[in-house]
Amino acid sequence: MEEKTMLRLVDTHCHIDLYPNSKQVVEMAERSCVYTIAVTNAPFVFPHTRELTFGKKFVRAAIGLHPELVAEHASELPQMLQFLRETRYVGEVGLDYTVKDEVLRRKQRDVFQAIMNACTEDQNKILTVHSRRAVSDVLACVGKDFPGTIILHWFSGTPRELAAALAVGCYFSVNPAMCTSMHGRKIISKIPRDHVLTETDGPFVTLKSRPAEPADVQLVTEVIADLWKISTGEVQRVVFDNFKRILGDPLQQNGKLSISKEVWE
Ligand code: MN
Repeated sequence: MEEKTMLRLVDTHCHIDLYPNSKQVVEMAERSCVYTIAVTNAPFVFPHTRELTFGKKFVRAAIGLHPELVAEHASELPQMLQFLRETRYVGEVGLDYTVKDEVLRRKQRDVFQAIMNACTEDQNKILTVHSRRAVSDVLACVGKDFPGTIILHWFSGTPRELAAALAVGCYFSVNPAMCTSMHGRKIISKIPRDHVLTETDGPFVTLKSRPAEPADVQLVTEVIADLWKISTGEVQRVVFDNFKRILGDPLQQNGKLSISKEVWE
């Protein structure tokens, strides 16, 4: 029991700015000690989210341009590239091929490729990436030697696509919605343990009609524990170690429960 209260949880994909009570969601993440990446869907909202997370211990703002909003917000790409200099965290970005229009798909690829090129220069970026029905084109944009970290969020591809993503070093963030679907659980059981992270994708993902919040990654770790046949505490340790590894925490070897300031910048 004691160990449980000490463990740190990780939510690598939460739309903090889209809750009606964003400030309280940040405060709750802080109180629950959940390391949280607050993704954004368009560059114009990034300053607001950065403001929400300013000076916080556990929550960081990410700069994003959601593939489904490319039609309306592609013109903000120059701002996006500007803000990329100010944060290590990038998302939500990627491709979504539930859109059938080829012109729009091409526009998504152009935007995502421009973001990837900028992130490649930086070496150090951590990206949370949307890949619905577009895994192979996402991986084509990422390329073989991307120097940062790609986290495929809410992955829903095939086992073959999963293997291709692993081959280029991708991580996978698992959310509560994946835990309740057969396909999602199948995917979770196929991800190597050293490539698993957790997310909520709140407020889009809901739990019993309320939006998921960062501390709800606890439920995700319980489901993973069940699938892996190990304790929830062990799963939380694995996820936390994975998170420290992608951050490049030099203290990751000595089992500390906090992350050094230099890497969680
Ligand atoms: Mn999302």
